[in-house]
Amino acid sequence: MCRKIATLLLLSLFCHTVYAYELAFRTIQEPLPIYINLSGSSGSGTTWHAAAVEALNTWGENTEFEFNLISVKVDPCSVFPPNFFGDDRNTVAFADDACGVPFDEDTLAITFSVAIITDDIYTLESDVVINNNVDWDVYDGPLRPFTMDFKRVLIHELGHVIGLNHEDDVPAIMASFIDSIDEPTADDIKGVEVLYSNPAFTDDGIEVVLEEPGESATVSGISNIRGWAVGNADILRIDLLLDGETFTRVPRGGTREDVKKLYKDRPGSESAGFSMAMAWSLLEPGEHTLTVRVMDWFFRTTEVTHTFNVEAFDAAFVSDSNQVSLDGGYEKTSQNSFKIKGLSVEGKSYDVIFKWNTGSQKFEMTEIDASEP
Ligand SMILES: [Zn+2]
Repeated sequence: MCRKIATLLLLSLFCHTVYAYELAFRTIQEPLPIYINLSGSSGSGTTWHAAAVEALNTWGENTEFEFNLISVKVDPCSVFPPNFFGDDRNTVAFADDACGVPFDEDTLAITFSVAIITDDIYTLESDVVINNNVDWDVYDGPLRPFTMDFKRVLIHELGHVIGLNHEDDVPAIMASFIDSIDEPTADDIKGVEVLYSNPAFTDDGIEVVLEEPGESATVSGISNIRGWAVGNADILRIDLLLDGETFTRVPRGGTREDVKKLYKDRPGSESAGFSMAMAWSLLEPGEHTLTVRVMDWFFRTTEVTHTFNVEAFDAAFVSDSNQVSLDGGYEKTSQNSFKIKGLSVEGKSYDVIFKWNTGSQKFEMTEIDASEP
């Protein structure tokens, strides 16, 4: 008895599954109507249409997702390129080319999808085009030389229609390259389950922190704009807006071990940092806002805005260090700040206050005032 329990425990340990499914978008309706009417038969005798019906049923039997077959022939390329509206019909058909573009040598089939952005992103329509130039048959098990199994390829393409992306890390019918797997695996099935039920999919969950400039900070000269961002999905882009206007895109990828510790389950959290050098003297002195807008791969966005103050010398860039001289001495202005008096920059005289900045870990100029020479 004990031995049996031990064996069961051991089994359960080895049965742990690491899921790796990759998701795109849910379909806008489910059950999903799909137009298929294929004529002819494979070399082994199964009609193409019967094989297609089996492929649809494979997903229906293994997941909660259901197709609603409409046995009517519709050209997948009737509206191409698939525009925003498409023709509202999901289709599967054989074709000599991919809606006017020749198939690549090793492309078996292509699924074209049109998505719509509302409160979330949904696939509005999908059209599966099967490469007519391939030598097709219908069979189970290992791939046979020179003849490709139509059914497993269609199961794969229907996986795209449902909303799965390619998965090459664990065994999956959604692998980029077809192999001996001829039906959805545990990973594919889990992917569909998560796509149609996971609350994380509707919760954007993007965290963004702007570390420099801090809220109400004073900036001058050249210093960094930096912070970090993570989401439930990979981050697609980070845009900076100055005073509400699009300014530039900043790359993400800076190593952030601290963020990784906080968000170890989020994709790319170890490289969540963003940073760029900024010449603040290019801005008019005074109050400005900087917004960091973060978008993930599902086009969900979150943003954070800091108001900051720019202090500057009259010269936007002092290129000759001989044009800077200290003559007027300095005074302590608070516990963590001091003023340099009569700082001469390109012939003009300024009083400049330096204050300790925790974000940058150094004294920074927080006030620049013209003074009498
Ligand atoms: Zn594919």
